[in-house]
Amino acid sequence: MSCVLVIGAGGVSSVCIHKMAQNAGIFSDIHLASRTRSKCDAIAASVKTREGAQVSTYEIDAEEVPAMVNLIRKIQPSLVVNLALPYQDLPIMDACLEAGVAYLDTANYEPKDEAKFEYKWQWAYHDRFKNAGLMALLGSGFDPGVTSVFTMWLRKHKLKTIRQLDILDCNGGDHGQAFATNFNPEINIREVTAPARHWEDGKWVETPALSTHHSFDFDEVGPRNAYLMYHEELESLSKFIPELERARFWMTFGDEYIKHLTVLENVGMTGIEPIIYQGKEIIPLQFLAAVLPKPETLGESTTGKTNIGCIATGEALDGSGEKTFYINNICSHEAAYEETGNQGVSYTTGVPAMIGAALMLNGTWAADGVVNMEEMDPDPFMDMLNAHGLPWNVKELDGPVGF
Ligand code: NDP
Repeated sequence: MSCVLVIGAGGVSSVCIHKMAQNAGIFSDIHLASRTRSKCDAIAASVKTREGAQVSTYEIDAEEVPAMVNLIRKIQPSLVVNLALPYQDLPIMDACLEAGVAYLDTANYEPKDEAKFEYKWQWAYHDRFKNAGLMALLGSGFDPGVTSVFTMWLRKHKLKTIRQLDILDCNGGDHGQAFATNFNPEINIREVTAPARHWEDGKWVETPALSTHHSFDFDEVGPRNAYLMYHEELESLSKFIPELERARFWMTFGDEYIKHLTVLENVGMTGIEPIIYQGKEIIPLQFLAAVLPKPETLGESTTGKTNIGCIATGEALDGSGEKTFYINNICSHEAAYEETGNQGVSYTTGVPAMIGAALMLNGTWAADGVVNMEEMDPDPFMDMLNAHGLPWNVKELDGPVGF
């Protein structure tokens, strides 16, 4: 029986709060605060209708640390779950330290004026959380999050070492729009337009954004073009799996998405440098994000499935030589919408956020300091994925991907 405070009221938060309400034995007292109170109230109303549970709501600017500290002191939660944007990670961590409460998020910190995400800023908080006897769990979404746990599960149960890793993220869904992003448009476009980076032979190899792609046939989706990208779990996986020779991240995009993104980039709409428009400073990407469809409105029209997983090659635990395993989850957009009123990408992120929070609150995952998903025992998390809507499959392949 625990009290939890969730920050942010977008699609991921909506799924997470619905799943928390389904698990009232752990989450007995749920509080939700965000910049726009009406969005919190809409989530609370949906949770009341679907699950019969009460959610208390508040308005907060999470970048205002003293206001955050006051709110935390008023509510006295055992855990703050940060489902706002990566920009708010550090102020929310500061507030947690000052108020003496544990922390969880799903995306690593990014400075607003530089499209660059790295763990270094949050890892720098380790000693302060450790000295306070508090745990901060980073990246409890799908990727990062489940992909990190999938890899560590393979390294615990199937492979003694992992030599090569490919993470394949396919959203085979169709939202019926000419162009839309499946999570926060500003964060999504910053990520996709950044140079690709992968880990090879002990160093990062950088290539131009979206310059490398291959077709891959995804179960229950079909063949899709997967593009090489940088993704934050590559940093933590290469740290916690020191023998990794190569680790890459691939995400699928349709031709229409690439066509629209290329035009938007070419005309300067994805820029993050401020420009003056009618005497006011605006950031082109933020303006673009404001006119694009809101991801939380896409749920009703989205059909199809996501298929996200990891292909790992290394020395088999049973001494049978080199083996390759593919571990993945397939999630239906329609089923996610029916259960929570949100599409599959919010679902595949919100469920692992709830699971990470549950494992922290019931003491199954305990640590002092800032920890990544790779540092925790994968087994209880994997069991909860099966029990809470994201079942996984593992199979042996003949060898690594052929590209
Ligand atoms: P949304 O944009 O839908 O929601 C973000 C919410 O945060 C909004 O309600 C927004 O408020 C709120 N917010 C923004 N700034 C502040 C602030 N200063 N103070 C308080 N609240 C604020 O995003 P998503 O739900 O799609 O994504 C949520 C998070 O999940 C993001 O960090 C994203 O990067 C991460 N993510 C992680 C994935 C993973 O697999 N690990 C996958 C997908 C997303 P307002 O409503 O006023 O705009």
